[in-house]
Amino acid sequence: MKADLHCHSNVSDGLLAPAEVASRAADRGVELWSLTDHDEVAGLAEARAVAEERGLRFLDGSEISVSWRDDASFHVVGLGIDPASPQLVAGLQAIRDGRAGRAHRIAVELDKAGIHGAYEGAARYAEKASIISRAHFARFLVERKISPDVKSVFDRYLAKGKPGYVPHEWATLEDALRWIVDAGGVAVLAHPLRYRVGRDELRTFLGEFKDRGGRGIEVACGAHTPEEVQECARLARHFGLQASVASDFHGPGENRVEFGQLPALPEGLVPVWHDWPEAARAGASGLASAGCA
Ligand code: AMP
Ligand code: MN
Ligand code: MN
Ligand code: MN
Repeated sequence: MKADLHCHSNVSDGLLAPAEVASRAADRGVELWSLTDHDEVAGLAEARAVAEERGLRFLDGSEISVSWRDDASFHVVGLGIDPASPQLVAGLQAIRDGRAGRAHRIAVELDKAGIHGAYEGAARYAEKASIISRAHFARFLVERKISPDVKSVFDRYLAKGKPGYVPHEWATLEDALRWIVDAGGVAVLAHPLRYRVGRDELRTFLGEFKDRGGRGIEVACGAHTPEEVQECARLARHFGLQASVASDFHGPGENRVEFGQLPALPEGLVPVWHDWPEAARAGASGLASAGCA
């Protein structure tokens, strides 16, 4: 079964409307799909309508920004959540509110680095969105020809330690996991090897994540090399976490991996959809094999 359980629309920092993302996933053969906008659930109804029309099985999702310990941040994907859960709705609203002030602080830092008008510039890219993200700043900096592409903008200006980076307090891990679990969802650690933490710290985090109710970890992941996919598989086995499949698609031209092109899950892992009645309706072929491609 082709699953893809992590991607973005222009409700957060993706380029396409939720309906367009849904059509694209369907066109490329995805069978079990989730839209997981950053700190937002506003695109889910539109995505679900198109997904169901096209015969996709759809899970309501969101990618929640979390702060951990002194200055680390992680992304936790909630899958199969009830998007109307009051605690979740209030929690995500608080994160989005925090993003607005952070965006102004980013613009102040970029201004000091000689890049003027960045708040207004980023806001133009976030017109349809209800959050403002570093990805919107990155697109503006590329437009200004300050760097040739989004990745090099991050490397030079927006990543931790660079001139436009500002520290920020996101949700606590405890809160994010509670919102997801209380909303009936399953919590999955996004792109496990894309954080600025050492391997020991990542393992400490994963222990805490599991103890507090985290269920899964992205293994077949668009952000990872084949070697990293194997490393994530080892982490999944070691911590007894289920495995997810995640392109982290943001839009045409911004991703290395398209819908439907993710590698199969390595052998011997329990897929994150294993216990889901919704996915079980896929029939035996969906659940009999842990493999999905
Ligand atoms: P934020 O949630 O505002 O901190 O922004 C994080 C978003 O920026 C991610 O979800 C990606 O869309 C994008 N991003 C972060 N790091 C990179 C990178 N190195 N290259 C390209 N996009 C990135
Ligand atoms: Mn993003
Ligand atoms: Mn992420
Ligand atoms: Mn993402």
